[in-house]
Amino acid sequence: MLGILSLMAGACSTGGVAEQAEGNVRTADAATASARRSGGDGRGSDEADSGSADADDGDTGAVQDRGGLTDGGQPDAGGGGNDGGGAPEDGEPVDGADDARPTPPGSRTDGPSADDDGPTPGPSSYPPITGPIGPAGGGVQAMLSPSGVLVTVTGRTGQGYVVETPCGGVTELAWGQPVTGVQVMLDPGHGGDERGAESAIGLTEAELNLALARRAAAELTGRSIVTVLSRNADYRIPIRRRAALADAVGPEVLVSIHHNTPASRPSPQPGTEVYVQQASDRSKRLGGLLYEEVVETLDRFDVEWTSRDDAGVLTVIDDDGEDAYGIARYPATTSALIEMAYLGNDKEAVLLATPDYLDAAGTALADAIERFLTTDDPGTGFVERPRVFNPSGATGGVGGCNDPPLQ
Ligand SMILES: [Zn+2]
Repeated sequence: MLGILSLMAGACSTGGVAEQAEGNVRTADAATASARRSGGDGRGSDEADSGSADADDGDTGAVQDRGGLTDGGQPDAGGGGNDGGGAPEDGEPVDGADDARPTPPGSRTDGPSADDDGPTPGPSSYPPITGPIGPAGGGVQAMLSPSGVLVTVTGRTGQGYVVETPCGGVTELAWGQPVTGVQVMLDPGHGGDERGAESAIGLTEAELNLALARRAAAELTGRSIVTVLSRNADYRIPIRRRAALADAVGPEVLVSIHHNTPASRPSPQPGTEVYVQQASDRSKRLGGLLYEEVVETLDRFDVEWTSRDDAGVLTVIDDDGEDAYGIARYPATTSALIEMAYLGNDKEAVLLATPDYLDAAGTALADAIERFLTTDDPGTGFVERPRVFNPSGATGGVGGCNDPPLQ
């Protein structure tokens, strides 16, 4: 969470306008399935309607196969990004070039420290994009690169497709996996040189957010809800690019996953916070359901929690009255950013590093999102008074951003 004071103290910056990055990638199974549904090339009626404002009413169509999820485990695609909170902590060392490689479809990992390397699928694994490209044609606007990195598609050339990279660069790819028909985008906060919060034992928010996003995506995919991650490996995505990815993919909801710091005051219940878009009733309902499910679930663990006094479902605005966080401000897609608990509190951090936490929290996130998609439940935990926060812009920008390998 953030707030000016905690911000200065330096926490998981939830990302000011200039902050936050988060990428995504959709599950390969779902992508493949939707491609099948739409006639083999990923185009067709399932096409996500990206672009329209606030509208995430994309297709409700459920999907089919969830291959690869036999163990209730990880989704194939990952996403990440978080921060809703205090000052950025991006001083952590980058884990290494290898970490930039995304997990290929079908692979999974079991814990926060798991990494994602594996065989890279070849061109024969995915159908080529043969339909219209970009908003004008109503065609594919996002795809997974050969290495599994989610990119936006902006045009076509004689040799392939013009795409925008996670860092915002423009390049060409000969082929990729179309990403269409997505209902949910999960965005693991941070990544790359932006590590976010860090526990006493060295678990960083960037990796924990990704592990939880994978777990939640696996759960959603298991329920036939087409889900994609903004990033499925450890690399940075500037906040505006996260928003662009979401709007290109066109999901009904974008949920950015974070863990907070520094530790706040002792509390009898989890200090979960959810930041929503002030002008969107859909975002507020999404936030209310996320808060309700996550707090109820985490409260079952016997932990000495910490919390801020105004924890709950919040709108966070700057001095100009605008949504302070980029993940709320920039995407037309309905979004919510959740700070699950305090990685900065040693007692909580012990729990957050366990598979039990990932299972419980992943299920809670999936339950909330499924309820959003299938009911009119309003959710709970709404805090009337907006929190005022003015981002420093210290993280989430494009400066020094290094793209992961796309091939
Ligand atoms: Zn964060």
